[in-house]
Amino acid sequence: MREGRDLAAINDAVTSAVVVHDARGSVVFANAAARRIFAAAAAWLFGDGVLAERARLREDGTPMPYDELPSVIAQRLNETVRNVVMGAVAPDGSVRWLLVDAVPILGDDGRVREVVSSLTDVTERRLTEDVLERRAFYDPVTDLPNRSLLEDRVAQAEQGARMLATSVALLLVSIEDLGRVNERLGHAAGDALLVDVATRMQAQLREQDSLARFAADVFAVLLPDTDEAGAQRVARKLLAALRRPFEVAGEVEELSAFIGIACYPTVDAEAGTLLHRVELASESARRSATGVASHRRSAAPGADRRALADGLRGALERDELTIVFQPIVRISDRRAMGVEAQARWPRPRRNFVGPAEIAALVERFGLTRALFGRTLRTALAQSATWRRSDLALGIGVNLASGNLLDPGLPALIEGALRDAGASSGWLTLEVPENALAIEPERAREIIRELVGIGVHIAIDDFGAGFSSLSVLQRLSAEIVKIDRSLVRRLIADPENRRIVRIAVEIGHSLGMQVVANGIEDTATLEVLVGLGCDLAQGTALGRPIAGAAILPWMARTNTTSSDA
Ligand code: CA
Repeated sequence: MREGRDLAAINDAVTSAVVVHDARGSVVFANAAARRIFAAAAAWLFGDGVLAERARLREDGTPMPYDELPSVIAQRLNETVRNVVMGAVAPDGSVRWLLVDAVPILGDDGRVREVVSSLTDVTERRLTEDVLERRAFYDPVTDLPNRSLLEDRVAQAEQGARMLATSVALLLVSIEDLGRVNERLGHAAGDALLVDVATRMQAQLREQDSLARFAADVFAVLLPDTDEAGAQRVARKLLAALRRPFEVAGEVEELSAFIGIACYPTVDAEAGTLLHRVELASESARRSATGVASHRRSAAPGADRRALADGLRGALERDELTIVFQPIVRISDRRAMGVEAQARWPRPRRNFVGPAEIAALVERFGLTRALFGRTLRTALAQSATWRRSDLALGIGVNLASGNLLDPGLPALIEGALRDAGASSGWLTLEVPENALAIEPERAREIIRELVGIGVHIAIDDFGAGFSSLSVLQRLSAEIVKIDRSLVRRLIADPENRRIVRIAVEIGHSLGMQVVANGIEDTATLEVLVGLGCDLAQGTALGRPIAGAAILPWMARTNTTSSDA
């Protein structure tokens, strides 16, 4: 009952006309606005007879043939057709100008089942020539639809989804730090950055999706035929694309972004419109750890991550992070061959913030470059100190996906090596497997460049991500580190044992060293010996400790191992 009333209310409130055709071209639905605009059945305007053709005008005022109808083109090409200006001649001879979008909806068999056309009456606006200048509906900076056109499309999409029992998702993508860029580099640079942001987002979207400039630093994405899971996937893709550093006015800028999601249909009957719900979701996303929140799941917002991130930004600026080093041990003789540098954030009167949470915070709030730079410089300085004591430990530093795609990365590394008086061969960059999946081509190129500098590459967290084993083959990596999630359940889960065995075999066949990460007990270590792993890392072999404590630790453990 409520559903029916809601539908009727939306139907009346929508100012745009919505007309749905079936596959044969017959009108199967027209909303109240359509009836208002046409003052008669919509069918005649969309017919293929001579009278109908005379009643339709192209933008230049000439008759519009049936073949040129947006709905007919959308059906024929199975493509969304947008922003066609079409005139409708009323029986009294007056003309209404309509801005028409036509979106094909596919059936289960993959063929066009219906075409949803939305028609916005732009007669008045056309008279003032706003439409010709696109000003009424388009944002002048990005040339994207503006908020008023988007709101119209959202209302149409929601109504269309109700009628056709399909789903639709709306995302609000808020870009933080744009104000900071405007202040520092000027508005022209800020505008150029906005265009880059829009271009990057557009590249992640399908042709039928709409990207719009919703507010100064907020974009909206309308995804027809998309459910909650699909919307989450798109949000993650968009965030990954946006967290890659931007080049603006010769400078490298990292932006942080958060995304609110609302979908139709929703489990919550009292939920309100998509626009209302997406704004609530956006508020939750602002405070969330991941930067993504959907309205359905936004009941319990997380702690205020923004405040935590501001604290971390300050700590990085003041060099307050502690860098600790976890030994990486050769399994055959238990000798430490290297260490992995990890950042800890000691907060006064509170607990340390661990590496996983730091990693999430820096990705979310655009601090990956600052964290990597600090960790790298501290690690290389420590490495130089060890070398002066004849301790030749390799040193691993973690890269985030944002770092890997940072065009300034090679220069940053070369500078840090020079300043520390370190040799590039001391350094291993640990690249998480899932960072390779975002832009494989670019990742491969940057890795080639890094190998050219002389640093070693380890593929980190291997087995946790989505890339296939073939990724290993095409990279010039020398080390593969198997993710702790596989190692931790090695004894309990035979499937994990098989995956690790295959990873070891493939790593070896490509001439790589295989490191197992996350070893917490000696039983697991014994299994890894059987699987042929070369190196191991974990609390069972050595906890992360301060740089100055490594030498005494080595003296102690080497005695132990030769005793054994
Ligand atoms: Ca690592």
